[in-house]
Amino acid sequence: MDRIALSHKLEDGRWQCGLCPHACVLNEGQVGICHVRKAEKNGIRSLVYGEPVATHIDPIEKKPLNHFLPGERIFSLGTLGCNLRCRGCQNDGLSRAHYASMGTKISADRIVDAAIQAGCRMIAYTYNEPIVWAEYAYDIACVAKNAGLKNVLVTAGFIQTNALEWFLEPFDAANIDLKGFSESLTLIVIFTFICKREKRIITTAGINTAG
Ligand code: SF4
Repeated sequence: MDRIALSHKLEDGRWQCGLCPHACVLNEGQVGICHVRKAEKNGIRSLVYGEPVATHIDPIEKKPLNHFLPGERIFSLGTLGCNLRCRGCQNDGLSRAHYASMGTKISADRIVDAAIQAGCRMIAYTYNEPIVWAEYAYDIACVAKNAGLKNVLVTAGFIQTNALEWFLEPFDAANIDLKGFSESLTLIVIFTFICKREKRIITTAGINTAG
């Protein structure tokens, strides 16, 4: 997907973001609810592209995934920003921060090189919500995939369907955090965990379960 396709111009000249369901409508110079996507002349741009603020090597079980390459270490990174405001966020220093430039950009190639140098066979897109830095995560994941690494997404899954179809392609596994409950969501949980309908639910969420 062309990056500009993630936003479109409205008749009144403002830009609308097509990435998450907030669908922020922004005048040039304004940033969205996530604090890290800004309307500019040619569309809405990710401010945090190339600017990870946290990198670490974690056990895969911390993501938490218990049945995907168990026992392995995973190179993990995150940026600033989030499109949700959950009470009790354990990473609010990152998720609620306002953007300030690091001054330097770190390319997707350099992230993958760092993971390989560290002896990791996987990269996790985590710590803050990767959906708000989708372009950077996607580019890293594509380079990683070409290098034979696996990609793990740690997300709340709050994303528009069109963007989801584009975004998921290079990922191999995902942890989708449940951030709240409603009657309909409770039904999904019952179907998922009690009725053993994992595949139907996950497929509905747009994740390829083949292979
Ligand atoms: S990703 Fe950010 S700018 Fe885009 S709709 Fe969501 S909160 Fe708004």
